[in-house]
Amino acid sequence: MNYVQRGFFWVGVYLCLVLTPLFVLLLASSPSGSGFWWDFSIALGFSGTSIMGTMFVLTARFRRAAAPFGIDLIYYYHRWIALVAFVFIIAHPAILVVLEPSLLADLRPSIISWHMLAGAASIMALTAIMVTSFWRQQLRIHYDAWRVGHALLAIAALGLAIGHIEGVGTYVSSPWKRTLWVTISVCCLALLFYVRLIKPLVLLKHPYRVEQVIKERGDAWTLALRPDGHRGFTFLPGQFAWLTLGNSPFALKEHPFSISSSAMQPETIHFTIKELGDFTSRIKDVIPGNTAYLDAPFGAFSIDRHPSSDYIFVAGGIGIAPVMSMLRTLADRGDDRSLLLIYAYKTWESLTFREELKKLQEELHLSVVYVLENPPDDWQGESGFITADLLTRNLPDYPERYEYYLCGPLPMTVMVEKTLQNKGIPLHQVHSELFNLA
Ligand SMILES: Cc1cc2nc3c(=O)[nH]c(=O)nc-3n(C[C@H](O)[C@H](O)[C@H](O)COP(=O)(O)OP(=O)(O)OC[C@H]3O[C@@H](n4cnc5c(N)ncnc54)[C@H](O)[C@@H]3O)c2cc1C
Repeated sequence: MNYVQRGFFWVGVYLCLVLTPLFVLLLASSPSGSGFWWDFSIALGFSGTSIMGTMFVLTARFRRAAAPFGIDLIYYYHRWIALVAFVFIIAHPAILVVLEPSLLADLRPSIISWHMLAGAASIMALTAIMVTSFWRQQLRIHYDAWRVGHALLAIAALGLAIGHIEGVGTYVSSPWKRTLWVTISVCCLALLFYVRLIKPLVLLKHPYRVEQVIKERGDAWTLALRPDGHRGFTFLPGQFAWLTLGNSPFALKEHPFSISSSAMQPETIHFTIKELGDFTSRIKDVIPGNTAYLDAPFGAFSIDRHPSSDYIFVAGGIGIAPVMSMLRTLADRGDDRSLLLIYAYKTWESLTFREELKKLQEELHLSVVYVLENPPDDWQGESGFITADLLTRNLPDYPERYEYYLCGPLPMTVMVEKTLQNKGIPLHQVHSELFNLA
């Protein structure tokens, strides 16, 4: 199966997972006489809960299922479909209360039943998830703390929702409906077990050793890792890995980084990491011989996914990392296709991989346009930011012949995408990697 067929297959599997509980509810005999809006509200509650359940599947990072889409797209989808589930679940009690205002009286603390309490608590947990996820940065919640809280709240929200459905009982009264709900609950628990225990155990058996820590221009460091006692993995140039440094892959301390080395040399994996926050600022203190764990490879940002006669790369800052992997791979393969790199950075001094790019220009059919935010006085090249005009000046004739790879800050990526769209480049020829999944 090619990527498109596999994509359709996994979308089908996903839709089955989301829709099965609803169909079971609709097909079998249900309490009658409640009216359309009552049944509609129940259907919303069930749909919201099953979408919530599939979140555990979406974020479990199954490589085969993620490959056709790219895990970043799946995380993006996860973010927005969670909002849909939230709206469904909030609408469920809201519609019921509009239809039957006396239901509110049942929520008084002195008489509330355990299953109504479970339903209300589930909604509160979901609300907390939404607020902390959509406004994490404004609320100044540290990423690592948010991640632990997010996982715990998600487990609580789903567990309480399933408890609520069980407690209400009306719609899961027949033995096979009950079996379905027990199966769904067990599957969610099994997924949790897989993600938190089995997967880290597998990683524990496949450690990596830090071979070198190399200082690069632009406050960046390259970590060179080698598999320790196993064969490692193969990857497509441009893909990324989740990296854990230290002795335990069980800690929720993994960070995503693009592989910057050549896919033709998978025995040594390089990551080029720019100092930014807590984790990235500690890279310079890593000592050769330290242990690391890699959950990889992930991502669809690769020239090998979209064969073309020629390629154009647009990189901003540390967005050069996955581009370097692609260029190094092309050089190792002796590729002679026409390549253009438009590369923006603050200063000439901080241009990461400046020297190596010069060497690659000799090995490949590669042109590089540097765009410096603060150029030196005698600078003859492009300066400022990458703009539509700058792109127009530097794109070759017949730009529709090329596949485009963009990696850099969000405003740069959005602007380049828009400009290319205005020039009539089909969307499927433009590939972007954003360094912000959360
Ligand atoms: C697909 C992908 C590839 C990347 N490749 C590179 C690369 O090659 N080189 C590079 O320097 N950076 C890369 N990054 C960015 C890198 O993952 C973050 O800069 C780094 O995780 C920040 O961690 P910190 O603790 O140093 O910074 P913090 O200040 O703690 O975090 C800064 C921001 O980074 C994000 N972040 C933090 N921790 C994580 C995490 N565990 N998982 C996801 N996001 C997180 C959050 O949005 C956070 O607000 C990549 C990101 C992604 C998604």
